[in-house]
Amino acid sequence: MRRWSEVAERVSATTRTSVKTHLLADYLRTLDAQQLPVAAVFFAGRPFAEVDGRTTGLGWAAISGAVAVIADLPPDALGDAYDRTSDLGLAVADVLEQAAEARRAGSLPELPDPVVDPPTLADVADAYAEIETASGSQAKAERFSELLRRCDPPTACYVVKILTGELRIGLGEGLLEAALAEAFERPIGAVKRAGMLTGDLGRTAVLAREDRLSSAEIALFHPLKFMLASPAEDAAEIIGRLGPTAWVEDKYDGIRAQLHRAGRDVRLYSRDLHDITGQFPEVIAGARDLAWTGILDGEILAYRDGTVMPFVALQKRLGRKAPSAAIRAEVPVVYVAFDLLALADPAVNGVEPLAEALLDRPLSERRRRLEGLELPLADSGGSFALSHLVSVDSADELEAAFDQARLRRNEGLMVKDPASPYSPGRRGLGWLKMKKALATLDCVVVGVELGHGKRHGVLSDYTFAVRDDASGKLVTIGKAYTGLTDAEIAEMTAWFEAHTLARFGRYRTVEPTVVVEVAFDVIVRSNRHSSGFSLRFPRIARLRLDKDAAEIDTTASVEAVWSGLQHGSEQLVTAGHQKAAVEAGRG
Ligand code: AMP
Repeated sequence: MRRWSEVAERVSATTRTSVKTHLLADYLRTLDAQQLPVAAVFFAGRPFAEVDGRTTGLGWAAISGAVAVIADLPPDALGDAYDRTSDLGLAVADVLEQAAEARRAGSLPELPDPVVDPPTLADVADAYAEIETASGSQAKAERFSELLRRCDPPTACYVVKILTGELRIGLGEGLLEAALAEAFERPIGAVKRAGMLTGDLGRTAVLAREDRLSSAEIALFHPLKFMLASPAEDAAEIIGRLGPTAWVEDKYDGIRAQLHRAGRDVRLYSRDLHDITGQFPEVIAGARDLAWTGILDGEILAYRDGTVMPFVALQKRLGRKAPSAAIRAEVPVVYVAFDLLALADPAVNGVEPLAEALLDRPLSERRRRLEGLELPLADSGGSFALSHLVSVDSADELEAAFDQARLRRNEGLMVKDPASPYSPGRRGLGWLKMKKALATLDCVVVGVELGHGKRHGVLSDYTFAVRDDASGKLVTIGKAYTGLTDAEIAEMTAWFEAHTLARFGRYRTVEPTVVVEVAFDVIVRSNRHSSGFSLRFPRIARLRLDKDAAEIDTTASVEAVWSGLQHGSEQLVTAGHQKAAVEAGRG
């Protein structure tokens, strides 16, 4: 694991993607068939493969408790280090390093059992698996402590980064796939395809090593990664990108789910590829008696009396393994299908659960075949609906569709290219999500931090604040590192350098005078920031150098936006509505 960590460190230290790829390829090539899948999954920044439903369930409290005991420092030492770095792995390494220094200086007693037996990759993988199966946070923390005791600070840093899923070394999945292709001299397309179909870069690495990439297949009851959408705001730009005709669907605010069925066996998988079958018995029951074998993509919504209920209603059902009859009556659900990923060959239907992958077929064909399944629709007592679909030929029509979606209190639209294939796990241009920021907040930057990857060496991560009405003090509300251009960041870096108040490792507080307009998707109440609120998907809409800090938003305006967003969307998905819209859309 130490060697793996050294490679990760070197990957992090360069911004040049070709250098990163060579470094990784050279390392991966040296690994044996046992080490390789573990190393690859860890480089994907996760303790277990994506398709593997496991999570360690180890929280911040357990991690910081274990670190405090090992380092023999007060429990808040880790919190302080984290405030400086905003990176738990770096913070852990920092604290362990501090403890080691104190020991060298003689101000702390020697560790009872010094690091003698550094863990191998397999040891770390085993430890993660044991943390996952250990029951209760105490048992999990103990297993984690055993692992951490064997690590030097740099290795501990990466053990924690992987555990928390935040590697932050400027290494995306695409780069890792390129490194696998280079390491084993395989075509990059074949590596990507296998990665997409298996949802497991460890397995993909082994297939690449053994020259068996073509054996990766789409399979029933093995969830595939979900296709994702790229954000877009401007109608003219969208039409420009997608070509003359674009398909427009409502963007539903529920939970994404993949439905697999063969015979009477029906399973649902969530976006993180967990099996959520037990949570939605009405969808399962409604799908049991159908006559096809295949895989659907769609969204589960809370839906009663012909109306979609707000997301907060659906939330009541989330996380419950088996919902009671009472909660099912209170919050019934419907499955809104919008894509068909695989369908059994009719010749073998019911005999063999073999699916024909439709991924490479155009969306128009997938939708036609989806409609041909004649799913039992909600307004005739079934538990399905089809997504509301219209097609548009111009930016004006798209704007109009957007306004109509907003009238249905929908957060936006999904704009899809009818010719596009289904690309699992990709945020491509085949699907665009058209949203307009609901509101923005003017905030003042109070802290900045060095960025990662291509933002290495510039102060690109901003922590910003609003003003508390009661005390007049600045209170933080979020942190963002996207939205500004490289030129703006460079210019602001110089300014922040000259106006730094105090440094804490990678983080520094700065004179609170730079105003930024922050866009976001949702505001939630949270203790994470001193304002008592935090923003979901915050991004800097623009620098407001024309404003000064006296003009920023206050907690009262945040509260007003927050309460305005509490009323969920109420878009209708009755079957009649769907059909009419689809037909009208097709003209
Ligand atoms: P976002 O979560 O903002 O990245 O938006 C993408 C998500 O929108 C998808 O993962 C789906 O869960 C959801 N979604 C809602 N309606 C649709 C639709 N008609 N087609 C595809 N995705 C949709």
